[in-house]
Amino acid sequence: MKILVVGGGGREHTIAWKLLQSSKVTKVYCAPGNGGTAQIAQNVPIGVHDFAALVQFVKDEGIDLTVVGPEDPLLAGIVDFFQERNLPIYGPNQKAAMIEGSKSFAKSLMKRYDIPTSAYESFLDYESASAYVREQGAPIVVKADGLAAGKGVVVAETVEEAEEALRQIMQESVFGEAGARVVIEECMFGEELSLLSFVDGETVKPMITSQDHKRIFNDDRGPNTGGMGTYAPVPQMSAELVDEIVKTIVQPMASGMAKDGIPFKGILYTGLMITEQGPKVVEFNARFGDPETQVLLPLLETDLLDIFVGTINGELDAVDVTWQKGSAVCVVMAAPGYPGEYPKGALIHGLGQANEGATVFHAGTKETEEGIVTSGGRVLGVVATGADLAQARETAYAKVQGISFDGAQYRTDIAARAMKYQQK
Ligand code: ATP
Repeated sequence: MKILVVGGGGREHTIAWKLLQSSKVTKVYCAPGNGGTAQIAQNVPIGVHDFAALVQFVKDEGIDLTVVGPEDPLLAGIVDFFQERNLPIYGPNQKAAMIEGSKSFAKSLMKRYDIPTSAYESFLDYESASAYVREQGAPIVVKADGLAAGKGVVVAETVEEAEEALRQIMQESVFGEAGARVVIEECMFGEELSLLSFVDGETVKPMITSQDHKRIFNDDRGPNTGGMGTYAPVPQMSAELVDEIVKTIVQPMASGMAKDGIPFKGILYTGLMITEQGPKVVEFNARFGDPETQVLLPLLETDLLDIFVGTINGELDAVDVTWQKGSAVCVVMAAPGYPGEYPKGALIHGLGQANEGATVFHAGTKETEEGIVTSGGRVLGVVATGADLAQARETAYAKVQGISFDGAQYRTDIAARAMKYQQK
């Protein structure tokens, strides 16, 4: 089968890499791809929003299946566009993807299906939002309703801070339309982690757990980023806890959506807080996480293509989804200045050296005549698997040591807290 992967980040490089391990896959294309996908697949210079050009390419090349990585094209309706033309595509349609595209929509479904999450209200005008904040007191969480690249969320320590966030979002419109509505939530406390699941409407097949490191600096200091590193599975999370999350959160969400005529087919990403009252939902995403994918797929034993095809056919229950024993760690190497302004075009050294057990997934890179150069904020995800977290971590960092580009920055504490937990 010929597959087209839509997107150009580390997640898409990982998906392409995993699909190429399937004996049924003959060729993978990436639109637009990056410097890493160029080495294993064929990059196609079409943007993720140019649906008409993507459809034409799929028809011209006789591509059998299209897989969508990022949320933007999902929310813009790429799946509906392909389905209207009878072209097989993996991912949720526009309506189902709204669980990521609108926080108030996601919250209203959780309320309807009785899924544990923080208490909330949503508002369209500043005066009532601000009155609600004063009534509730701090700490309190203010969120722009729509997509704001992870920047539309303020966990406010004081009422003044929350009101300032409301002013910026609702009056100064710093996130444009995404902030026309705000969601104000009760602040939750606890360990934060993710459980991604393959869902074909009704059937839910959970993956192993993973944890991201969102802040730019060690010990969770500094500004938020797209994610500086991940590991899987999370030792703080027992099998019983995973069962509880599936039973009280993921399955009711899938079944509820199916019953309401908006079946979710794709990757359901559940962001969770393990509070004293049990697991509660922080957010749902409608696709693979980046960089969670980089630690999940290397541990997946099952043929990813079988899962994608099984989902599209509504036969996911017949696919046996299994995972390797052991752990995976991903260390993100980022450009200097990220998540603020950063330079592009720095030559990357050391990519070619083989390290057993380590794989480098590219994010913001580009192939040039001089070699692979940086072209984004998050540049590489250096991933290793091992018998346990300690071994995976050691191999990943050994590989990182051998790679260099001007001003490269990375955290040195990925998975460190989980290892301390294990030693206790
Ligand atoms: P992203 O897609 O970048 O993960 P987002 O913009 O979709 O982020 P959320 O995931 O809803 O926003 O929130 C971002 C972060 O803010 C969470 O990862 C969590 O750390 C914190 N947060 C969100 N909601 C709450 C809450 N109710 N209580 C405590 N912390 C919260």
